Amino acid sequence: MTRSYEIAIVTSAFALKIASGAFLTLGRLAVSSLVMGAGISAMHYSGMAAIRVVPMITYERPLLVLSVLVAFGASFAALWLAFRLRSGKTWMLRLARVAAAVVMGLAIAGMHYIGMAASQFGPDAYCVGGVALDNTWIAVVIGVLSLGMVAIASITTIYDGRLETEKQLHTSTLERSNAQLQHQATHDALTGLPNRVLLLDRLDRCALNAKRQKSGFAVLAMDLDRFKNINDSLGHSAGDELLREVARRLGGAVRQQDTIARMGGDEFVIVLESADSKASVEQVIRRIVDAISLPYDVQTVIVHTTPSIGVCFYPGDGEDAGALLMHADEAMYFAKQQGRNNHQFFTPEMDVFSSQRLQLESDLRIAIKQQQFELHYQPKVDVQTGIIGSTEALIRWRHPLMGMIPPDRFIPMAEETGLILPIGEWALREACRQARAWQIAGMPITRMAVNLSALQFRQERLFDVVSSALNDAGLDARHLELELTETCVMSNSKESALILERLSRLGVLISIDDFGTGYSSMSYLRRFPIDKLKIDRSFIKDLGSSQEATSIVQAIISLAHSLKLKVIAEGVETPEQLAILKELGCDQYQGYHFSKPLPSRAVEELVQAAGASRQSHAGDKLLRTHSKLEAFRPA
Ligand code: C2E
Ligand code: CA
Ligand code: CA
Repeated sequence: MTRSYEIAIVTSAFALKIASGAFLTLGRLAVSSLVMGAGISAMHYSGMAAIRVVPMITYERPLLVLSVLVAFGASFAALWLAFRLRSGKTWMLRLARVAAAVVMGLAIAGMHYIGMAASQFGPDAYCVGGVALDNTWIAVVIGVLSLGMVAIASITTIYDGRLETEKQLHTSTLERSNAQLQHQATHDALTGLPNRVLLLDRLDRCALNAKRQKSGFAVLAMDLDRFKNINDSLGHSAGDELLREVARRLGGAVRQQDTIARMGGDEFVIVLESADSKASVEQVIRRIVDAISLPYDVQTVIVHTTPSIGVCFYPGDGEDAGALLMHADEAMYFAKQQGRNNHQFFTPEMDVFSSQRLQLESDLRIAIKQQQFELHYQPKVDVQTGIIGSTEALIRWRHPLMGMIPPDRFIPMAEETGLILPIGEWALREACRQARAWQIAGMPITRMAVNLSALQFRQERLFDVVSSALNDAGLDARHLELELTETCVMSNSKESALILERLSRLGVLISIDDFGTGYSSMSYLRRFPIDKLKIDRSFIKDLGSSQEATSIVQAIISLAHSLKLKVIAEGVETPEQLAILKELGCDQYQGYHFSKPLPSRAVEELVQAAGASRQSHAGDKLLRTHSKLEAFRPA
């Protein structure tokens, strides 16, 4: 008896050890059930051997083999069941574990009965002492049954604990990365705001809700004026910083339940859930405009931007996410078209406008190939003498169906699409060619000014483009003046200074366009190799009528002169404006008062009419500038 128990304990422990492990392989299961089966068999037959019967017990071989096989098979089934059922805490699983123990116990008992059937006692067999046969059986069966139960219960408790923690760990990691993926797929990485995917979903849900409650809501599409410019000139990381700040300010301007999403670039969409009237939307728009228009401090430069906003309503302007977004977007483009820092409510006519815009964009690509552009030239006149010293080349698009299109209607689109690079290059080449042609024809106009967009200014090929335009035209660099806007030059000032210096060394002149509207920093002005400031026409417009405008113009002129820069005023429309400029000591002016931009032939006639004699000796004096690089320029 003692021996049987020892065998039972040792083999069970051994089998359990082998079967334990995070994963149960078939090999391990096989080995452990062999050990367990062998143990059970050994336990039975050693118990039998302990019974001293005369004559000796003999065994029927097939049944003996069957009993051992039953021991192996039962162990296999029970261990497998125990392992499978070891994790989980539902009462079903617990019950199933008990069932596994019972299977094991029954199988062991079955093995014993088969073993008993296999044993043959002689007809006169008698027991020579020791334990009575029946009691031994009961003890063995009970012992084995309880051992089986204990064994399986131990496996399950040990692994329950281990697996449960492992499972929890896996589940939480899985849940976390799932949540992360979900967030990434539905949010904008830069600002953390919902992206288009989530917005579409929210819009559809809002529409469903509003339909049920028979209410409405507003969708606002917003983009930032001149963002492209800021991004091109300050660099992408500055642009990103600006966008993050815009997102933050938007959050402060709307209510908690409203959705703000970023659609990409500088485009945001705001869903105002309970705003269903123009008046309530206008209130929110005022808050948004106030917040967005405050100055931004990006990478130590102060920049300004304003929002253009388009508004549409559910259900009046659209009943699903797609239609609502499209119409808010069209209204937004309309707002931009009407002048910046503006908002517009969607009207059905805008649908037509918007398809025109798309048409225009595709036409613009064709226009480059088919050479539909031409240049007009606006004289720049000496304030004191009235002599035409130079002209500014201004591009026009002769559209085959729509006629002449002014640059304000296509330059922003060309900048957005990058088409400004080939268009601007064409304008530069054509202007150089015309300047040279006038020189050859003996015209006294000494210089040609050409506008450069920020994108052109920052392009790598800029120097190649400028020098090859000059070379191909045979024009001397000092006869070319490049107009760059203040915003373009003042941003990313270190890089700007390098580009300007390289341009200046080529020999071309640099003029700062739209001066006074950007964020000028006087210290940069001093450092840049520039030649001329062009006072923005918004100040000239109010000259005389507004004391403030007059003071600003006066300040710019004296600042320019103290830096030894020339000053030109643009947009001069009246003799009064010209008189004030004369008094303030402005060097040159340009504007409808003298002449609108004209085709080259008309400029030639104008110059002739102005009197060739008066123009002729103006030449060299007008060429001179005071840029700090003047000394280094090729003679
Ligand atoms: P800008 O460089 O400020 O050009 C001056 C604009 O003011 C021109 O408009 C001109 O026609 C207009 N203007 C001239 N005198 C007066 C006046 O007395 N009163 C008023 N109210 N306006 C006056 P335009 O030709 O429509 O050009 C608009 C803008 O398009 C230009 O502004 C310039 O930024 C851009 N642009 C024109 N041509 C080119 C080009 O070849 N390349 C690039 N990159 N930009 C160009
Ligand atoms: Ca200009
Ligand atoms: Ca200008």
